[in-house]
Amino acid sequence: MKLVLLGAPGAGKGTQASFLKNKYNLAHISTGDIFRANLKNNTPLGIEAKKFMDNGQLVPDNIVMNMVGNEIENLNNNNGFMLDGFPRTIPQAEFLEKIVKLDAVILFHVPDEEIIRRLTSRRMCKNCGSITDNNHDKCPSCGGELFTRDDDREDVIKSRLKVFHEQTEQLIEFYRKKNLLIEINASGSPEEIFARVVGFLDHDKN
Ligand code: AMP
Repeated sequence: MKLVLLGAPGAGKGTQASFLKNKYNLAHISTGDIFRANLKNNTPLGIEAKKFMDNGQLVPDNIVMNMVGNEIENLNNNNGFMLDGFPRTIPQAEFLEKIVKLDAVILFHVPDEEIIRRLTSRRMCKNCGSITDNNHDKCPSCGGELFTRDDDREDVIKSRLKVFHEQTEQLIEFYRKKNLLIEINASGSPEEIFARVVGFLDHDKN
């Protein structure tokens, strides 16, 4: 199964990706996570990406496409994969079309006010990268220290949402026309949202 997870930042794509990974044994390719790992290791790619990430802007298409092309080429998971955070622009989607035949694009719908509320209270674990919120002092998964991502500040969140509405939202129509779009109401608990996703995916398979 080859999936794209589409939705605004904070729509819960990463959380749903980890559920999907467990249930269907899919590889999880998150462009944001790859950039953050590169940043942590101070690679040239990470240093370049940081200039854009810190302002909530998109990293240029050619850099991201090159990176994703390599990831897909080097993948060794026969069950397939899900792309989380890619594509985000029409040129990225056109590039993807040339290298992969997708089975579905899952769109997670969340109102903007809820996105802002979720992202301003979001915390990430320094140790395992899990996402939680400011109701916790330590990571609920591993006990690691929690921090606020640089791009989860309110001013940066607003730019990220603007970029989503101006550029990434165009992909909704792009994939709807190709009959690939699955639309999910992504308000509610992560478990409720996952049940909706599975309902669609398992129904589509039969
Ligand atoms: P995310 O964790 O998916 O919210 O991504 C964090 C940041 O990484 C984004 O705000 C962008 O600066 C950059 N990024 C991730 N994926 C892409 C992409 N497909 N195209 C351009 N920039 C990206």
